[in-house]
Amino acid sequence: MKLSMRAKWRPLGFAALALLTALVIWIAARNARNATLDVPAARASEELTLASEGMPEYEITAAFDPSASTLSCTQTVKWTNDTGELLDKIVLRAYANAFASDETSPAASFELYDLCYGKAGFNPGGIDITSVMLNGAPADWSYADDARTIMYITAPPQTPGVSIRLSLEYTITIPQCAYRFGFSDGIYAIGNAFPILAIFRDGEWREDKYGEYGDPFVHECANWRVALTLPRGWQAAATGARTYGDPLIFEARAARDFALVISNRFSTARATVGGTSVTAYAASSGQARALVQAGARALEIYNEAFGEYPWPTYDLAAVSLPFGGMEYPCLSMISPQTDSIQLGRAVAHETAHQWFYSLAGSDAVEEPWLDESLCSFAALLYINKAEGSASLETYLSTVIEPSFQLTIPRGITIGSPLWAFAGWGEYRVLLYERGCGMLWGLSEAIGEQKLLEALRLYIDNASFGFASRQDFLYAIYQATGSDWEGYLIDYLDTYIEGSW
Ligand SMILES: [Zn+2]
Repeated sequence: MKLSMRAKWRPLGFAALALLTALVIWIAARNARNATLDVPAARASEELTLASEGMPEYEITAAFDPSASTLSCTQTVKWTNDTGELLDKIVLRAYANAFASDETSPAASFELYDLCYGKAGFNPGGIDITSVMLNGAPADWSYADDARTIMYITAPPQTPGVSIRLSLEYTITIPQCAYRFGFSDGIYAIGNAFPILAIFRDGEWREDKYGEYGDPFVHECANWRVALTLPRGWQAAATGARTYGDPLIFEARAARDFALVISNRFSTARATVGGTSVTAYAASSGQARALVQAGARALEIYNEAFGEYPWPTYDLAAVSLPFGGMEYPCLSMISPQTDSIQLGRAVAHETAHQWFYSLAGSDAVEEPWLDESLCSFAALLYINKAEGSASLETYLSTVIEPSFQLTIPRGITIGSPLWAFAGWGEYRVLLYERGCGMLWGLSEAIGEQKLLEALRLYIDNASFGFASRQDFLYAIYQATGSDWEGYLIDYLDTYIEGSW
């Protein structure tokens, strides 16, 4: 009886085994397909390939240790002296060191301290550089500032056109801090942490201070290849297209910087916009979905308004920040929020930086309005299309118009350089709100289509390079045939008295 029962069930057993085998094969095939879908590296556009020729090359290996909050790294930088000048030193920026002390940390300002460090109080981070080699030989080097963010590497006279190779070994310590460089709630944000060439402009290396507000980072586009080793179960959002494996490989052509966000708590959500794979990383699947929806919508709107996004990937990562978000090439860090309207607007602003900062570079220290006000204007296009015209009207009448009535310290204008502002409050009102109003007014005066035509020309003229106020003015002239310098002077250089 028992035997016969077994005999009776045997065919079913075989069928179940066959089904199980088929399931295993199907899952393996599906994973293989996913792996292929997840590797858009090979699709770097012809535009990117052409633009990236001759750019500096960064190659990094990084091993992440969550128990120590460190990244152990090796790095090579290949650079050709394209300054046209004879140089006796090369300057790298080691921004991470600003976080070593509460005297120099940009997150330790009066306005931000509690938001960033919270009840636990100050926690140091930084970068410990143990080896610097120049063309294969140990190099003389030193820090040039108290915050140890400026590295002078002494070099034999570097004639124009000569190429050098720097090799570094270092450990980055990530501080406990809700900031663009720091960890909070199990999410590690690693922004402006890898050593990067300072920019050489107007006959000298720029040595801008890593201050407490704005984004004082002005860098040339470069080609990056980063091999990242993560413990099992950890994931990374990053600049650049990835190839799965151990290590994970990220490659980014023509990118001004490289940033990472690492966590073992990420849910992900994906979308495709044109030739770009959009991926969101967040602590919950709901947050990831909200991020990817807003990011994909913003990319669609800006692709149409400003021209196609040229990179194969765009990542969004939820990171606790004391501000709405932070832009990096092919990656936005977005502060999580439950209000979907506010989240969408933060994503819209940061995504616009992929055109105004990442693609068309500008001087975020001397002319911060040029990327910030243009991104806030771009967000109006998003509000209009994603939320509707009534929402745009409300935003203009409740946020933008009142900003012109606030009292601002005498002498501060939309066109002021970064160091003229006293803090985040002024910076936001002038650049995000009044600057946006200035561009809205221009759009009303010349017509939205003409302004968008001008912005496409502005981006085309400065793609992978830098634009200035004069370039912006010239693009308006190209689009309209008329000179709008007087209008810009009225807003950028003229003190506007508030009435409140
Ligand atoms: Zn911005």
